[in-house]
Parts: sequence; C-alpha cells; structure tokens
Amino acid sequence: MEQMIPFNKPYITGKEAHYLYKAVESGHLSGNGQFTKRCQAYFEERWGFKKTLLTTSCTDALEMCAMLINIQPGDEVIVPSYTFVSTALAFARQGAHIVFADSRTDHPGIDESILEALITTKTKAIVPVHYAGIACDMDKIMDIADRHNLFVIEDAAQAIDSYYRDKPLGSIGHLGTFSFHETKNIQCGEGGLLAINDERFVQRAEIIWEKGTNRAEFFRGEINKYGWVDTGSSFLPSELNASFLFAQLEELDNIQNRRKEIWQNYYDGLKEWARKNKVELPVVPDHATNNGHMFYMICPSNKFRTLLIDYLKKQNINPVFHYLSLHKSDYYTHKYKGNVLINSDMYSETLVRLPFYYDLHRQEAIIDDIKSFSITSF
Ligand SMILES: *Cc1c(COP(=O)(O)O)cnc(C)c1O
Repeated sequence: MEQMIPFNKPYITGKEAHYLYKAVESGHLSGNGQFTKRCQAYFEERWGFKKTLLTTSCTDALEMCAMLINIQPGDEVIVPSYTFVSTALAFARQGAHIVFADSRTDHPGIDESILEALITTKTKAIVPVHYAGIACDMDKIMDIADRHNLFVIEDAAQAIDSYYRDKPLGSIGHLGTFSFHETKNIQCGEGGLLAINDERFVQRAEIIWEKGTNRAEFFRGEINKYGWVDTGSSFLPSELNASFLFAQLEELDNIQNRRKEIWQNYYDGLKEWARKNKVELPVVPDHATNNGHMFYMICPSNKFRTLLIDYLKKQNINPVFHYLSLHKSDYYTHKYKGNVLINSDMYSETLVRLPFYYDLHRQEAIIDDIKSFSITSF
C-alpha cells in the first residue's frame, strides 16, 4: 500500500544544521545575536521594511502590535471572522472588543466594502489578513483607515514574498506580521516577524521586544545603563531559531519557485474537473500576486466537501479544512452581537485545502484521484 500523503511536511534545506552549529560555536545562544541581525537585515533589504524584529511566533508579533497601538479595554478592533485565532486573540487579550467582518464572495479575504459600516468612535485598528498569501485591497483599506484615523496591522502570516500592486505585503500597513511556523513557506518550527513601517513605533517596539527594557539601545552604546522603562514581554527568539531560519531564507527563491509550480500544477490539473463539478478554484485579483502558500478549493456544498475528504482519505491522501468562523467560536460566540456573516460561514463549511509542501512527490496521483471523484457517484 502507498504511504499516506500528509497535508504538510516541513521542508529542510540541508543548511540548517550547519548554521545551528555556527550559532552554538559562537557562544551566543540567547536572542538578538548575529543570526537574528542577519535575518532582520535580509528582510529589511529585500522587502524594504523600515525595521524588523524576529519574534517567537506571528501570534507574538500581533501581541506586540496590540501593545504598540496601546489597546485599552473597550477599544474596538476590526478583524475578519474567517482567520486563525491569533489574529483576534492578540487584541482580545489586551481588552479589545473584536468586531468581526465578513469575507469577500470571491475570496476568503476581508470584504473591504463593508468595513466603513463597522467603524465606531471606539474603533482603533483594522487587521486585514492576506489569506493564502493573496493581497487584500490595501489601497481601499488604507484610505478608510486614513479618513477615520485608524491603525492598519497586516496579518501577513501566510504572505511572505507576496505583493499588492508591486508593494510587498506587510510593508503597507503601519505594522505587519509574519509566521515561520512549520506550515508556512519558510519556517523554523515556531517563529515570526514584526515589520514596523511607521517610524513612530521603532524605538518602543525594541523595548517591548526585550521585556520592557532599553537593552537594545544599551548594547548599541546609545545609553550607559539599561532598565525597566515600559511594558513588554520576552518576544525575541533564541539564536537557535534564528540560525535555522537563516538557512531557509538563503533558499527562499528556490522554495518559492517550487511552491508556485505545485500551485500551478493543481490549478491546471483540476480546472476542467472543477468547472464540471461546480467547485471554485482560487481567484488571484489583478492587484495581487500568488506566493504559492496554499491551494484551496471551494466545494458546492458541505456534503460535497465531506464526501470528497472521505474519498481522498481512503486513497491515503490527507486534505484538511479550516477556520470555524471566529464569531461562532466557543470563546467568542456569547460576546458576539453583530450580523450573520454569510461568506465566512460559507468558507467554513465548503473550503478544503490540498496537501502542499516542497517535497510533494505524487501530485499527479492526487490530481487523478480528485478527478475520479464526482458527487453523482454517491
Ligand atoms: C499561521 C497564522 C498565524 C499564527 O502564526 P504563529 O506563528 O503560529 O503564531 C496567524 N495568522 C494567520 C493568518 C496564520 O495563518
């Protein structure tokens, strides 16, 4: 019997052990050492972020954002309901009331056209999520934010090396966050990045990053003693994570090319089948690029999705679905007072993600198995 094709398999470039050894050899294993600096320099040079800080996760980077914009109990933050928990949690734990927005009909990203109706005098920020690495309409979102004096924090967890009209995602809002969790394009097990695009946040971000101390300034020789000056936490990863991540960054173009190829193979291989079965394949709007983060399909019904997943599991293929609308989560449902979010619920019930990783060897077999599925055969 063929081996199970998993949903995800973290890619290892082969250089990780070498750089880990270098980090060990250097004698500096805690955070903010040479590899942290090399990774941050790479991000700043390649994508033009004003300042970046490695974090232990994207969740941590989002928590730093909540602290940086001074979220207070009662403040409102607009977040799509169809997203990973952290997008909302990071702000909710600082006391924000989360105002959930619906998704677009053609794409799981936030519906820009309904945002303005959700703004009140208590609104502090909008947190668009670039789902599947595909850009939200950032011109529209930034325009709304400017007119209402709101912060924009891009949850670019899935959006490394992806663009909105030639601008790198994560570089457009006041702040942007990335994830290097093992399910993302480049990874170090658990890891993340805060991109700071608004100069006003740079100095304080370093303090929040280092347990509320001005340690970073001290080590640059800018001040002669350091101490507790603000809120914060231990958001910086050790050099072990940073050295691992550096190996991945060096291979980024190779990884991206391979992932885009996998994406295109799925798209070309499934197009005809999808049309016949009323399944929708991903849409990449003109303003966006595709970074090969994931391949998803929208099934015509929840029943279709269940039958398809069961069918593929019998062929030893492991597709997954995700995101129970956050406004319906156990934690938030009793606090939610907004409208029914039709599209978010629709994606929760019908979206399925196909196995997607660098070493995906039997993609033709997966495509053939999907093409042999039709709901009329049940
Ligand atoms: C993966 C992901 C996160 C969380 O990233 P971590 O690094 O695991 O904290 C947040 N938001 C989105 C949209 C994600 O896909």
